[in-house]
Amino acid sequence: MKRKKLGKMIICGVPYQVTLGNADNFLHDIANRWGETDHVEMQININSKPSLEMKEDTLLHECLHAILQQSGAKDMMLRAGINDINSFEETLIRIITPHLLNVIKQLPKIKF
Ligand SMILES: [Zn+2]
Repeated sequence: MKRKKLGKMIICGVPYQVTLGNADNFLHDIANRWGETDHVEMQININSKPSLEMKEDTLLHECLHAILQQSGAKDMMLRAGINDINSFEETLIRIITPHLLNVIKQLPKIKF
């Protein structure tokens, strides 16, 4: 099944193509995934199965992977000597994502 192109997200100046579709045709074959980010193909692929709220959470989650990569923050964490950087990154993003999504949804309430 073909993936539906949803548009591009510019992350740290780098365009990532966002697609929606079945996890069966993700670039990386890992079971039970809601999304994936590929920094070579510049793609963020979102699983079409979960609810809209879960898809938004997943898109933000994947954008945070791209931000850490493209901003140099991941390199900074590596140089700081963080062991098992990929597990650390995944845990950090899982902790931050629902809180950041909640903040983003509240932004329109604050009028400057
Ligand atoms: Zn992740």
